[in-house]
Amino acid sequence: MRVFKFGGASVKSASAVKNVAEVLRTQSDGPLLVVISAMGKITNKLESLVDAYYYNKEEKRVLYKEILNFHAEIIQDLQIAENEYYEVENLLIELECIIEKKRDESSPYDTEYDRIVPFGELISTKIVSTYLNKIGYKNRWIDARNFVITTNKNRAANVLWEESVPLINSSLKPLLDRQTIITQGFIGRGLNHKNTTLGREGSDYTAAIFAYALDAESVTIWKDVDGVMNADPRKFENPVLIDKLSYNEAIELAYYGASVIHPKTIQPLKNKKIPLYVKSFLDPSKPGTVVMENDNCALNDIQCYIVKEYQSMVTIATKDFSFIVEDNLELIFSALNKAGIQLNMMQNSAISFIGCYNEDTLKTEELFALLADKFEVSLAKDNTLLTVFNYNDGKSELDLIIGLRRVRLEQKSNSALQLLLN
Ligand code: ASP
Ligand code: MG
Repeated sequence: MRVFKFGGASVKSASAVKNVAEVLRTQSDGPLLVVISAMGKITNKLESLVDAYYYNKEEKRVLYKEILNFHAEIIQDLQIAENEYYEVENLLIELECIIEKKRDESSPYDTEYDRIVPFGELISTKIVSTYLNKIGYKNRWIDARNFVITTNKNRAANVLWEESVPLINSSLKPLLDRQTIITQGFIGRGLNHKNTTLGREGSDYTAAIFAYALDAESVTIWKDVDGVMNADPRKFENPVLIDKLSYNEAIELAYYGASVIHPKTIQPLKNKKIPLYVKSFLDPSKPGTVVMENDNCALNDIQCYIVKEYQSMVTIATKDFSFIVEDNLELIFSALNKAGIQLNMMQNSAISFIGCYNEDTLKTEELFALLADKFEVSLAKDNTLLTVFNYNDGKSELDLIIGLRRVRLEQKSNSALQLLLN
């Protein structure tokens, strides 16, 4: 059996949904499980709705209306009859009831987030499943929350494999012989029986979870690009397609911030040597990229460019001129950890430590407060982190990218060159 994953962009409109149907019609042979994300940018809208609901802002009704209208228009364009979309309607009513009720003051923000945001995936899969059945593509809608069992940690739940795998195996395997299964990415259920989510863009990971449990032949992630490119086509002029990657290379690219595949996706696939295809839903005949097992790790030597904007550079210097060694590093890392900051690059000298991370005012304030006693801390905002993976001394190309910007930090490892520019 195989697993397909369609992200938000592939179901952002009625014509996009029709295209998914076409991809399924032409590309599926044999048992198939399809994981689908929320439509278009609905998850962002739902995040705003959570915020408005939590802080009881008036705009919650406007946001709800926008979410309602967005889906209603797609249903209408897909010409789904009223007696067929009542389940979508029920979900929308349930969502409205939640936001209209007085909030339980004791319920934390992240719990409320996981109560509300999964509606995006639930509604999207209901619409696609209903449409597919209507046009004769037989399928069955399954609630992923009954199979993806997780820890209770809201918004960043960890999968409990020992609970999930037997459930998926015993209940879904027999169904797959009869028809395609349609289910949601990103969402699960904690041991406390409440909703959880796996972190933004987590649908790729869901596809890998099902593939692992079902011993799938392969996973295909359908995207609006031809496959994994060596640079973001929106930022670089002549990106090239990488046709093959090893699991290790894919992990490294994800680590440096390439946003092609959710980083957690690779591990379960690597464990069972399940190949991952990244292909274009706009032209499925194109070969795309395959991520697969390879003993010598590297399958290509194409230079890859990864750009991360809005980087804050923090400089932490000891007040007493003590060296930045184990004891001070321990204090610094513990403060970073407490503030929830993940460093994208770091460097240290005798009496100072420098790190860069995605700009975040609240986290920065917390970090400063935690370190104020022992350290002199300063911040420079608005930098860009450029990582060149498989770096091969092609100076001229690099000069072109750097242009007039100043290089604040530079770091080189076996596989990558990192530059912090401002
Ligand atoms: N809908 C979720 C998000 O936008 C999950 C996903 O798309 O993978 O983050
Ligand atoms: Mg999405």
